[in-house]
Amino acid sequence: MSLKVHLIGRTVFDVESFINFLSAHSLGWRRSENASGTDEFVEAAGRICYLSFGRNQSPKSNAEYIRHLIVEGHESVLEHVSWSFLIEGISRACTHQLVRHRVGFSFSQLSQQYHDESDVQCVEPYGLDAYPAAAAAWSTAAKVTKEAYRTIIDELGTGEECQTPGIGHRERLRAIRSAARSILPNAAETKIVMTANARALRHFLNVRGTIPGDTEMRCLSSELLRHLKNESPSIFFDFDSRIHLDGIPIVYRVEKEA
Ligand SMILES: Cc1cc2nc3c(=O)[nH]c(=O)nc-3n(C[C@H](O)[C@H](O)[C@H](O)COP(=O)(O)OP(=O)(O)OC[C@H]3O[C@@H](n4cnc5c(N)ncnc54)[C@H](O)[C@@H]3O)c2cc1C
Repeated sequence: MSLKVHLIGRTVFDVESFINFLSAHSLGWRRSENASGTDEFVEAAGRICYLSFGRNQSPKSNAEYIRHLIVEGHESVLEHVSWSFLIEGISRACTHQLVRHRVGFSFSQLSQQYHDESDVQCVEPYGLDAYPAAAAAWSTAAKVTKEAYRTIIDELGTGEECQTPGIGHRERLRAIRSAARSILPNAAETKIVMTANARALRHFLNVRGTIPGDTEMRCLSSELLRHLKNESPSIFFDFDSRIHLDGIPIVYRVEKEA
């Protein structure tokens, strides 16, 4: 099962409403051609701090303006725009690392208590197939674990027969699946919706996308960045991704390497 990152939501800048506001204050705004909605939103929010419109507007383009905000450390302005991603084909090990990010992130993940995992797939680590004996051991363990899960579910019943006072069918089912899921591996495939703002995503890409040994995170980060550079080239100007020597994508900071 391979990683897929679907971009399912984004902040929408109501530029007409913003321009109405500027007009009401007799202010004009020279906008950059081809700037994306999210890039324009950040520029507009930043310019509000100094009302740098009309005669007070510097000749900076949208890209130059946002780069200046970032270089100066005025990054709270980036928190106004966010994106929502539906991620699938990702291991529970990787999402465990993902959900450690507390600031500017929101998560909704497939429950192993409410969802029956009898048909769970496992996410094979990148590069394992180059080592046939290791790959075979991995496949065997994944298969045996899935069988154990099913046995535990079968042996503990359906929950319908539960007579224990205070524990209804639904809670008994939760208890059964909790017992069974305790055997599931870190490799168990999961699905998660993640919403994050631009500042948080820049921090994430910086600390997570660039670690050579963390191949699944590198792939996730590269896929996120592919969407983000398309959405907001000005905000993510200093990040890029390339294929690393091991044949797997890696994120890097453009200016740090220059
Ligand atoms: C290479 C690597 C190895 C790691 N190894 C381990 C490990 O062995 N064990 C482990 O438990 N975790 C490990 N982690 C996870 C790491 O400790 C962080 O929990 C995770 O990367 C989230 O980073 P963060 O706190 O910067 O992000 P966020 O939670 O999104 O926070 C963003 C930023 O907000 C600020 N912030 C957030 N909360 C606070 C706070 N309470 N007080 C002050 N400032 C705050 C900080 O500046 C922080 O960088 C590892 C991470 C990496 C990248």
